[in-house]
Amino acid sequence: METQSRILRIVHYPAPVLRKKAAPIDRVTPEIARFMDEMVETMYADNGVGLAAPQVGISLRIIVVDVGDGPLHLVNPVIIAREGSQTGVEGCLSLPNLHGDVVRAMKVTVRALNIHGKKVTLSGEGLWARAMQHEIDHLDGILFTDHVDPATLHWVTTEEGHDGDYIERPTTLEDALHLFEREASLMKSS
Ligand code: ZN
Repeated sequence: METQSRILRIVHYPAPVLRKKAAPIDRVTPEIARFMDEMVETMYADNGVGLAAPQVGISLRIIVVDVGDGPLHLVNPVIIAREGSQTGVEGCLSLPNLHGDVVRAMKVTVRALNIHGKKVTLSGEGLWARAMQHEIDHLDGILFTDHVDPATLHWVTTEEGHDGDYIERPTTLEDALHLFEREASLMKSS
């Protein structure tokens, strides 16, 4: 029996699976539970705070989130209440190194099934609420670039500026998406 988790391959924009509406799950089988554990391992390996199944090429309504207080595995998650608003920077493992400001609800309540197939209702705010909204969007084919304030969009680099902080390079949405499209077509032809 294999007990070790696998790291899954993350698909990048413009993979068509990222734009599909993902299918709901009838029952949390042991296979689904194992897949969720692999998603968590993959999220940690890439230093993410959340991951949605379409990001590993699986068009099912599953997300995992960990904003620092342990992993949450959620099946068929639905936001049933939103309150307030917050503006903050977001990135996405499917659009590496691209960051920009997105306005989200400050607090959300989410209804879902957990890894044991039990109904759960969870509420949270701040980064937790932001991660939930970002990951649940993925299940409907929505990316943070659909909501981003284009004036704040930038690449994060590993080059240090005078102040020792990493240099950020402003970009337009069009240029950024073109770059990902070009990378994908180069990968295909090589
Ligand atoms: Zn994302």
